[in-house]
Amino acid sequence: MKNQVLNKKIITLLVSAAFLFSTNTSTFAQTVKKRAATTTPQKGQIESVLKETYNKYKDLKEGKNADYIPELAKVPSDQFAIVIIGPDGQVYSQGDVDALYSIQSISKVLTLARAIEESGAQAVQDKIGVDPTGQRFNSALAVEQNKGKELNPLVNAGAIATTSMLKGNTYEEKWKNIIQTHNDFAGRQLEVNEPVYKSEAATNQHNQALASLMNSFERMYFDPQKSVDLYTKQCAININTKDLAMIAATLANGGTNPVTKKKVVSPQTVAHVLPVMATCGLYDDSGIWFYNVGLPAKSGVGGGIMAIVPGQYGIAAFSPRLDEAGNSIRAQRAIADIVSKLNLNPYLIQPNTAGAAKR
Ligand code: GLN
Repeated sequence: MKNQVLNKKIITLLVSAAFLFSTNTSTFAQTVKKRAATTTPQKGQIESVLKETYNKYKDLKEGKNADYIPELAKVPSDQFAIVIIGPDGQVYSQGDVDALYSIQSISKVLTLARAIEESGAQAVQDKIGVDPTGQRFNSALAVEQNKGKELNPLVNAGAIATTSMLKGNTYEEKWKNIIQTHNDFAGRQLEVNEPVYKSEAATNQHNQALASLMNSFERMYFDPQKSVDLYTKQCAININTKDLAMIAATLANGGTNPVTKKKVVSPQTVAHVLPVMATCGLYDDSGIWFYNVGLPAKSGVGGGIMAIVPGQYGIAAFSPRLDEAGNSIRAQRAIADIVSKLNLNPYLIQPNTAGAAKR
């Protein structure tokens, strides 16, 4: 167990270093840019890959809706949508792009970004932690093991504590902050899905227990039960897949919405958010995802997944049927195929062989 934890820490450090390096070091960044420029896909190519991928998976019925939140079991399981938004805000889409669903865990990324923006990267590292837990997203064991320390903002306990950190002296002030952040990322005014909010609020005793446990270790920064309620409400914010791709595109664009041009968070904040997504974004399958796709991503039990191609694209997919870890099956497969076909994995490097013949 100790070794596993140590390995996870080393992986976190390496991945974080690679990201920071690629955004901060000028010569390296130039090389990356140069390579990216030659591989930027054409409009027609994006459209045809999107269509092909949609058709490939549209009849796939593996997995099942989340049902521990009763309202999520009622979402039509066949809904499927994929959207890509490019650096200038161009939208490419297929499927049920207007279907609304609850954002769920993906909201954790937005509150993390706001918390870093308000309190700084060090404060989030100290007060929450930025290490993968290797446990399920709602694990109490992970909290107990380190006395509420060394969690991350993308598992439930860490996310509830992150929400409790946000600016605002009252429940109402904090909520205003949360919904404004979501609106700014999406570039439009979003609404809460009331039936989902009520359904989860009536059944979230486990999350309440997590908040109490965190509080017992003095790792909550606002009233624990009010924080759980804020968190539950933020998870119930309704989005469609275009909204999700816009949120992803805002992160891809260094924290400025590519359409409204509003600066939502700073590029420095994004440079800390993406590595947490890379190491913790798909629950306890985050390693498998990153190993295969190479992009920071985040899933929610509502069926949405967003992936970020830093400096280029926001990619989003939605399909309610989930796998054992709680990740949408069709959304994972669709995004993985698109990344591979459009050559968007930043770790797939074409070797520089210039001058090799002279040796
Ligand atoms: N609101 C959900 C919960 O707390 C979010 C979980 C998720 O999307 N993984 O259980």
